[in-house]
Amino acid sequence: MFYLLIILLQMKLIRQITDLNKAIHKENDLGFVPTMGGLHKGHEFLIKVSQKICKKTLVSIFVNPTQFNNKDDYKTYPRDLSKDLKILKKLKVDFVYLPTVNQIYKNKRLPRITLKKSQKILCARSRKGHFEGVLDVLNRFVKLISPKMIFMGEKDFQQYFLVKNFISQNYKIKVYPCKTIRDKNGMALSSRNILLNRTNLKTAGLIANKLLKLKFSLLKKNSLNNVNAKKSKKLIQKSKKMLINKFNIKIEYLECRNLMTLTTNTKNKPFKLFIAYYLNNVRLIDNF
Ligand code: AMP
Repeated sequence: MFYLLIILLQMKLIRQITDLNKAIHKENDLGFVPTMGGLHKGHEFLIKVSQKICKKTLVSIFVNPTQFNNKDDYKTYPRDLSKDLKILKKLKVDFVYLPTVNQIYKNKRLPRITLKKSQKILCARSRKGHFEGVLDVLNRFVKLISPKMIFMGEKDFQQYFLVKNFISQNYKIKVYPCKTIRDKNGMALSSRNILLNRTNLKTAGLIANKLLKLKFSLLKKNSLNNVNAKKSKKLIQKSKKMLINKFNIKIEYLECRNLMTLTTNTKNKPFKLFIAYYLNNVRLIDNF
């Protein structure tokens, strides 16, 4: 009886689509946590939320080539499967799906996903084809897994926003947002942080704290008053210059966007401050 319990509690490692079908075809309360591996406390949080809400949890690890607009970035993306599996085992995840690129892209006949012009903002502007790749691969995973819920991090807020819209238009599946998990120094955890040295990590923490302060200053100015709107724009420009000079970083964007629509209409509306920047040639994103 004891051994049977251990077997039942064991995490199922799935590599083939046929095995996936066999393992989950009876599951009707399945939480899905898509990842690209390089797991950290941010991923762990998503998994724990899924385990709280859904009966069973499936985590996928798949570094999706079609969402990389830079070949070197794809090649150097941090991968450590044995470490990832240890983390997943410890968390008692029910199913781990590790497909190959061939398996996922076998069925090429899915409709092509394109972004509207209005959606080509923030990361979509600089990373051509990135979100089209994200939505396409997620669509493929959802067709294979049919989860009840998908858990995503607010750390990648634009990704969450686009996925939520896409899924709600095409499926009866809820996309559940999970808060950003941060390091003690304030920087958002990310698989890419492993590519940073100690000084870089300290700098990223200082940048996160400056941005948090900037968010508070912007909140104070966020009224219908046009004078304040101009002041906010100036403050962002000033902060951008300060960050570039003080920390020797390249900023791709630093923008305020409406929380519900991601448009620039933020007057008297809840908003977020979004940043993408390069530190030591590593591209980092965050929002506050
Ligand atoms: P990735 O493996 O980077 O594709 O991320 C997989 C999921 O984990 C995405 O939904 C991310 O938004 C989420 N995620 C990544 N970093 C964090 C973090 N620091 N806090 C919360 N969620 C995160």
